[in-house]
Amino acid sequence: MSSPMSRPVSGPVTGDTPAPPLIHVTDLHRWLGRGAGRVHALRGVDLTIRAGEFVAIVGASGSGKSTLMNILGLLDRPDGGEYRIAGTDTATMTREELAGQRRELFGFVFQQYHLIASLDAVGNVELPAIHAGAPRPYRRSRAAGLLRRLGLGHRLQAHPGEMSGGQQQRVSIARALMNGGSVILADEPTGALDSHSGQEVMALLQDLSHEGHTVILITHDQGVADRADRVIRIEDGRITHDSGPAPRTHDNPRGGQPGRGPSLLASLGNAARSALAALGASPVRTALTLSGIVIGVASVVAMMAIGAGARADYIRTASAIGTNWLAIGRTGDSNATSMPLTVGDTEALRGVPNVSGAMSAWWEQATLRREGVEYTSNVLATDRDFRIVHEWDTVRGSFFSEQDQISGAPVLVLGTTVAEKLFPDKPDPSGEFVLVNGTSFLVSRGALRSKGMAEDGDDRDALVVMPLTTAETRVYGMGMLSLIIVSLDDMARLAETTQAVRDVMISRHGREDFWLHDAASAFQRAEEKQAAQNLLLGAIAMISMLVGGIGVMNIMLITVRERTREIGIRLATGARVRDILIQFLTEAVALSAIGGIAGLVLAVAIGAIAAYGFGMTVIFSVKLSLVALAGAALMGVGSGLMPALRAARMDPVAALTDR
Ligand code: ADP
Ligand code: MG
Repeated sequence: MSSPMSRPVSGPVTGDTPAPPLIHVTDLHRWLGRGAGRVHALRGVDLTIRAGEFVAIVGASGSGKSTLMNILGLLDRPDGGEYRIAGTDTATMTREELAGQRRELFGFVFQQYHLIASLDAVGNVELPAIHAGAPRPYRRSRAAGLLRRLGLGHRLQAHPGEMSGGQQQRVSIARALMNGGSVILADEPTGALDSHSGQEVMALLQDLSHEGHTVILITHDQGVADRADRVIRIEDGRITHDSGPAPRTHDNPRGGQPGRGPSLLASLGNAARSALAALGASPVRTALTLSGIVIGVASVVAMMAIGAGARADYIRTASAIGTNWLAIGRTGDSNATSMPLTVGDTEALRGVPNVSGAMSAWWEQATLRREGVEYTSNVLATDRDFRIVHEWDTVRGSFFSEQDQISGAPVLVLGTTVAEKLFPDKPDPSGEFVLVNGTSFLVSRGALRSKGMAEDGDDRDALVVMPLTTAETRVYGMGMLSLIIVSLDDMARLAETTQAVRDVMISRHGREDFWLHDAASAFQRAEEKQAAQNLLLGAIAMISMLVGGIGVMNIMLITVRERTREIGIRLATGARVRDILIQFLTEAVALSAIGGIAGLVLAVAIGAIAAYGFGMTVIFSVKLSLVALAGAALMGVGSGLMPALRAARMDPVAALTDR
């Protein structure tokens, strides 16, 4: 066997002073359990092991072997006595330093292999190197190299569930060697294996011993123990026999270096990888958990997009018809006591300060006919202030003249839709004739600029405009004005102008027998309604996100519970509290972020259905989407913190022996 894999320990020999032994334990005590079940598991153990020894600790079940090994491996702390590693008292070590020693000095081999089920062989073997911060390509190739050396070259991508017990134990030995494994601590490594696999594992341990690794083997089997160089017998928490150090020992080694461990960024990367592996292991549960976040994000983003679309439509409508106008109508058509609106009213309103134009409006319907083409259209009988009030003029030719108005001339101005219907063949119908309810009209003045569709789907261009006098004298006879519309110069003076208009109308009619409607207030009311809707949506979103957050927290707590042993394994392979914390936090954030992204996708789908299925205007906000996503991720942090802390605070031994 070549040995770039092994790191035989040898220490500096400093003159005559013998270097302190690798492991030196004096009067070690450990109580386990609570109350009546409290057990004095170690009752004053003294033990010295030098680097390079192959020691077997043998004893009956329950004699305290595992308890001793957990303390030697720094997974557990004694209640009394002293434990020095290469002269350093372990009681003075911080949690960080203990994790560093576990990572760099020790390699554990357990009876139950303790492999992480969601990782393949290479993933399991590289674990200690991840915690040590080794770069990925290096640790992958070293892990593969170790596995090949242990005869598992063909099983690199196999998961623990797909391997035999013997193979799994070899994976766990490779893992113990990953960071060097100066000291291999093997607790009943052959206990779960058939005799053939057990022989193989023992041969491996002997090889490692010959290469210079210190091997501490724990077994209840005297036959297995006899293969070690030195046999220590333990009974009821006390050492009753020690065959003594074999001649072949090294001098003392350096202890493990509490390596700096991975950078935060590398930790995040590793954690994200293992998060995805863990989430992928139970996709249905992951999906169900995320539904709250998905719905929260989707509903906010989609509804806001639809709301923004509706608002844009409304603004387009409002700007097409303008908001700088007031409409006056007669209340209760059937109420005979209300006076009709008259042209006189219109003229009186023209004199109100800040009024830029006042137009009489009389809406009727008429059948238009021209050379076999027949079309029923809205007819607006009005005056020249139409152009000011509606900011609507002709694109071709001119509007009807003052003279047309006075004389009641049979002239028409066509909306573009009417022009297209009646004159599909003529781009400019000026000078043509049209019959309006049988009366011949001259399309004297071309067509109006197109204003497109109204919000309610009405075609604003489906109208013809004629002078009011013409309508009265030639088409309909005397009628009543439908509306008077006045436009304002300065919208800042809306309130005072509205009052002045009301006063003029009351003085003319003797009382308020009319209604007044201003577009600006209507627009404002619509805005307020929209704001209220947004608030409601926001609340709904918050609630679904909260429910989603609770879901994530719940699933993370379950995950931590289910993966207690994995946490133990990670701690045993040198993970620090920070690594565990980051790992589970990252999982929670990844979970929430995936939910957020799924929510965005769903939102786009809803938007697409609204847009293509129902013809709604939909405007997505990138900013809002990012905010929603960030919110989801933030909520992942919030809901993952408690479970992650719970994971990070776990006791290594309790975690490893879970279930
Ligand atoms: P071995 O590994 O030699 O079989 P252990 O070191 O596991 O023995 O256990 C030593 C003694 O401590 C046993 O009597 C065992 O029942 C007891 N023990 C071990 N773990 C616990 C625990 N978590 N709580 C209470 N007693 C324990
Ligand atoms: Mg045991």
